[in-house]
Amino acid sequence: MPSATHPTTWLVTGASRGIGFELVRQLVASPENLVVAACRNPAKATALNNLKALAKGTLHVVQIDVSDFDSIRASAKQLEPILGELGLDYLVNNAGVLYPDTAFTLDPETLLETVRTNAAGPALLSQVCLPFLEKGRRKVILHISSTGGSLQTTLGVGARLASYCMSKAALNMLTLKQKAERPDLTVLTMCPGWVKTDMGGKEAQLEPEESVAGILKVVTSVTLADSGKYLRYNGEVIPW
Ligand code: NDP
Repeated sequence: MPSATHPTTWLVTGASRGIGFELVRQLVASPENLVVAACRNPAKATALNNLKALAKGTLHVVQIDVSDFDSIRASAKQLEPILGELGLDYLVNNAGVLYPDTAFTLDPETLLETVRTNAAGPALLSQVCLPFLEKGRRKVILHISSTGGSLQTTLGVGARLASYCMSKAALNMLTLKQKAERPDLTVLTMCPGWVKTDMGGKEAQLEPEESVAGILKVVTSVTLADSGKYLRYNGEVIPW
């Protein structure tokens, strides 16, 4: 059971704003969680630093740029003093980018950059975190994907968001590959819904609070039997 001496540990990427920040905000509200919030520029993450000042030692802020492989590899040194003894219960690969484009207009460099951030970064960070996850009690990897990564449903986006959807399809495949290679881990890929953030825009359907409350309810209740599932924030199954 989680306690002050053996809390439930979380690492959340892209924690400076949007869904990542809201994840951290809701997690630190519970004293049984110890949260590592990763962002690419901690000095500019004002809201996160303000939260840290209030969190009484249960929130650590570390620098990870998930599009920079050296930064990801170097993060092990930042994580070791925080998670070395406790291990990591939940790795949440949340950071992501979206550039609006279509299949016949996309710049291949943009496609590569999107895949780098949205799929290659999460793959490498999972490798870096594996020793910590092996020590953790829950051993959960959560990839924040999108219904846009589904091959079976176009989510009404039609031709739009080609690079983004390809990158999320790659992230979804990573989920299945990680599950197949490590049946001792619980690996999930989830869509947060259409959420009011810088990425989702003001027209989006969900407030970050509602989306994140749903995600946390789902991810904290999954078991090993759920590994490899593709779920919405409210627990609904998404067709691959
Ligand atoms: P935002 O654009 O609001 O925030 C993106 C976050 O990712 C920021 O914290 C940003 O940091 C961070 N980030 C981007 N690139 C990097 C990088 N290279 N290294 C580290 N951090 C990075 O997006 P959302 O909060 O809406 O999205 C979060 C996740 O949810 C994404 O994976 C997205 O694809 C997914 N999603 C969102 C939906 C929505 O409707 N909002 C719908 C479906 C999926 P910085 O402040 O430094 O730029």
